[in-house]
Amino acid sequence: MFDWLVVGAGFAGSVLAERLASQRGDRVLVVDRRPHVGGNAYDCYDEAGLLIHKYGPHIFHTNSEQVFDHLSQFTEWRPYEHRVLAEVDKKLVPVPINLETINTLYGLDLTPEQLEEWFAARAEPVKEIRSSEDVVVSRVGRELYEKFFRGYTRKQWGVDPSELDKSVTARVPTRTNRDDRYFTDKLQYMPAAGYTRMFERMLHHPNIQVMLKTDYSQMREEFAYKRLIFTGPVDEYFGYCYGRLPYRSLRFEHKTLQKEWHQPVAVVNYPMEHDYTRVTEYKHLTGQQHPWTSLTFEYPTADGDPYYPVPTAENADRYRRYEALARTTEDVWFVGRLATYRYYNMDQVVGQALATYRRIEASVPSDNRA
Ligand code: FAD
Repeated sequence: MFDWLVVGAGFAGSVLAERLASQRGDRVLVVDRRPHVGGNAYDCYDEAGLLIHKYGPHIFHTNSEQVFDHLSQFTEWRPYEHRVLAEVDKKLVPVPINLETINTLYGLDLTPEQLEEWFAARAEPVKEIRSSEDVVVSRVGRELYEKFFRGYTRKQWGVDPSELDKSVTARVPTRTNRDDRYFTDKLQYMPAAGYTRMFERMLHHPNIQVMLKTDYSQMREEFAYKRLIFTGPVDEYFGYCYGRLPYRSLRFEHKTLQKEWHQPVAVVNYPMEHDYTRVTEYKHLTGQQHPWTSLTFEYPTADGDPYYPVPTAENADRYRRYEALARTTEDVWFVGRLATYRYYNMDQVVGQALATYRRIEASVPSDNRA
């Protein structure tokens, strides 16, 4: 008899499993349908011996010291500030758009104040900002929208930005200074020995048993447990009774080149050309020394593993119905990105899992605590 069944060995499931086992002495069974732990953050060595991220580049950044300190129990860190370039008009320029981007692209020598005026002169007034297109056009004008956002968003989401909720491009800032860091969080690091090693340490506890290649739907009758933590898709849990919650997916093409470096930064975006959206070169992220280099090309797709919840009003309504059902389901906690149908970064999922643990502590007495 287990005290808890945890479905999913990603951040949500692993953080909770560790807390329940180490702090309460509870017995925990973790299952994942994939053949590895770590969820989407899983990394591994490819045939050439280069550390790659199987599900696309994962960069850790947070403003939460609590989250950082928590994970620091299971990993050392390597300082890393993420920088991204975009290939636009055959030039590699920094994104998010900053002073350097505009000066390089247009052969100008603007100051930050002049750039603010430059944007203002191009911005188109939009009465009510509704779509992703409105967000960008009202800030920097149509030309930059076409160069940086339209093609990228169409590839990524399969629809024109004019049809997409404003929240999608609201995440992409523009700057008038020379700050070319992709994220501005105060803590920006990569796990020194990789994400998978961090997960293995988290789950290495005598009270935790991990079963991989195991789907919840196939094993739930076979094991006795008192309570459930579910980090898979919430619509799947309820048998799609209100219909499917749509996701955008990605196909990852991993390649190794027999040369030391391919590109100047970890990620280059391709908003205008090619079917892929971006190319990642991992050695920039991991700091690994190797005479060869491994890359991942990302091709957005409609079908495949669920990665990005599609932010429309209709989908939000559908999720709310599932959320109401989840709230009335006793002894089950729904945690993480798939179970709450929200685009969360890793640190947000860790924060959510720690908050869930505090709620469990307040409401579920442990039978095992010494
Ligand atoms: P997941 O990692 O998806 O884990 C859920 C697990 O549950 C999966 O392993 C799945 O196999 C398992 N599961 C589901 N259903 C079942 C079932 N029925 N039975 C058994 N197992 C099941 N965040 C950042 O902070 N920085 C980044 O740079 C970043 N880059 C990203 C890039 C991409 C391409 C993607 C897709 C995401 C990125 N993220 C990034 C987000 C990050 O991946 C998530 O925040 C995090 O992985 C979510 O953890 P989770 O535990 O909620 O879900």
